[in-house]
Amino acid sequence: MANYGMAFDYKLCINCHACEVACKEENGIDLGAKNHRLWIQEDALVKGDFWDLDRSEISFMQMQCQECQDAPCLKACPNGAIYVDENGIVRLHQDKCDLTRACMEACPYDARYVDEKNHVTDKCIFCADTRLARGETTTACQITCPAKLRYFGDLDDENSEISKVLKEREHFTLKPEAGTKPKLFYLK
Ligand code: SF4
Ligand code: SF4
Repeated sequence: MANYGMAFDYKLCINCHACEVACKEENGIDLGAKNHRLWIQEDALVKGDFWDLDRSEISFMQMQCQECQDAPCLKACPNGAIYVDENGIVRLHQDKCDLTRACMEACPYDARYVDEKNHVTDKCIFCADTRLARGETTTACQITCPAKLRYFGDLDDENSEISKVLKEREHFTLKPEAGTKPKLFYLK
């Protein structure tokens, strides 16, 4: 049991998309698929999407499910298909999903998409069905990133790398005004 979260040293991103390829490969998503679990948002500041701070140097932002502790997707699903697992990861009972798409509409981060293969909604689940299920403690995007900008681990363990970096460095979450309490953190 853990309480997994992720932190991003986001300014180190060189927009190489190695994370995207690794994620698709690890989680059985076609390499050419347009809808998938992770994406790099370019020129976030220029578009003024999330922040009001002066970050004129930002060009690339790593985006995926924010693992909300108060998740609008979970509340919106009329079938009770979405739940939080023993590791604090927002998951889906696939057999209960009828593609109502209420979760997709409710997510403030556009993190959910339709998995055309299985006819359910999908999103990042920290490689729970693949790497974590095999007993590994890293995610595919984290281990592959050449800039090593991702920290992944147990937020409840004060000795984990992510807990230490969050203690040492200032950070922020996306769209705090949505009240979702994300477990993804962006390091200043
Ligand atoms: Fe759900 Fe979206 Fe929050 Fe992820 S980011 S837990 S999909 S509301
Ligand atoms: Fe994809 Fe795993 Fe990274 Fe989530 S943690 S974006 S599932 S590689």
